[in-house]
Amino acid sequence: MADTTQRIRIVGAGPSGLCAAINLARAGYGVTVYERHAEVGKRFHGDFQGIENWSTPVDFADALKTLSIAPDFFCRPHWGGELLMQGGYGGTVRSPRPLFYLTRRGSMEGSLDRSLKTQALEAGVTLKFGCHRAIEDGHIIAAGPGKPNVMASGVVFRTDLPDTITTVLDNELAPDGYAYLLVQDGCGTLASVYYRHFKRAAAHLERTTQYFQARRPFPMENPRQFTGYGNFYPVCSAVHRGRLYVGEAAGFQDFLFGFGIRYALMSGYLAARSIIEGCSYDLLWRQVFGRQLATSLINRYLLQRFGSLAHRLIIWRTTRGNPWAFMNRFYNSAAGRLLAQAPAARWLQKKAGGDGRPCAARL
Ligand SMILES: Cc1cc2nc3c(=O)[nH]c(=O)nc-3n(C[C@H](O)[C@H](O)[C@H](O)COP(=O)(O)OP(=O)(O)OC[C@H]3O[C@@H](n4cnc5c(N)ncnc54)[C@H](O)[C@@H]3O)c2cc1C
Repeated sequence: MADTTQRIRIVGAGPSGLCAAINLARAGYGVTVYERHAEVGKRFHGDFQGIENWSTPVDFADALKTLSIAPDFFCRPHWGGELLMQGGYGGTVRSPRPLFYLTRRGSMEGSLDRSLKTQALEAGVTLKFGCHRAIEDGHIIAAGPGKPNVMASGVVFRTDLPDTITTVLDNELAPDGYAYLLVQDGCGTLASVYYRHFKRAAAHLERTTQYFQARRPFPMENPRQFTGYGNFYPVCSAVHRGRLYVGEAAGFQDFLFGFGIRYALMSGYLAARSIIEGCSYDLLWRQVFGRQLATSLINRYLLQRFGSLAHRLIIWRTTRGNPWAFMNRFYNSAAGRLLAQAPAARWLQKKAGGDGRPCAARL
């Protein structure tokens, strides 16, 4: 029987913390969320982000119902776009079902963050802004990434370009990562996401801007630059000293491309469920997305090892046939990649381990 007299304290008002808060409050718990900034979404700048829709057969629109989240934010399905490499190789991706949903991040009206805040307040959650709390103060830790091991540099702007979805896999623009140009209704986001050469952030953004401008010049009005980072590290348990870690604070991140929003929402929901139902949180997340997490690590290792050959393969497979089916297999089937498990774990341990968190590489 759930003890709803207990007040749950959550550190961090990102998607993971707010999703946990909404579900707990709806189940009758008193919930306080502490956020160090004066508003939600301060980590972001109105940029577009994609919520991947291929790692599970459950469409994100349906997943939101399970998560008890109303879809009253900018959340637009997309069936594809352009996928390119430098040198012109690439083409158009067209999927029979939505490949991703585009959303906006930040403090503004219509963003995912703002909508979650409103839904949390409506559910009766107490939100305390400008309140930096120690990890020891929380039952649920939703404080986002620790040290950076993937970075993004970008710019948001107004433009007269038509709606555009273009992604470029190229180590010159984005070492081991990808660059993208997203335009919707006259708002643009252009960014480089890179996994090394962090000190050359300005150069990555400049090259990316030049690349897209050379393909087709376009105005960038009211440009606002941003940088951000993500963190991935080996997750063994997401429970430490009785605290439940959710979202990026737990290391729940798509190792391959950094699509962390779905993991953040899902882990927040599962942490709430484990409290409400009195069941093991570790068991829940392993059942629901443990496999995808492990597979995405192997895929990242292989991508970094095989570089442009891997880029070419991804482009070749997604620009013909059924790209959704390919991506779904790519994110789920570790079977064909069993041989890479041990080196992938060693590689990650070397790259991301040793930051003092209670984890060990285990796939
Ligand atoms: C530039 C950029 C682009 C991205 N693009 C995509 C994308 O296209 N698709 C995708 O799926 N993912 C993307 N991601 C990743 C995605 O944004 C994250 O995975 C997701 O926001 C993680 O949610 P979270 O709740 O775990 O953490 P966060 O969103 O980081 O929220 C954590 C919150 O905790 C607060 N906090 C931290 N410490 C404390 C403390 N001690 N006390 C109180 N409050 C605290 C922070 O201020 C923050 O508000 C991107 C990330 C970046 C940086």
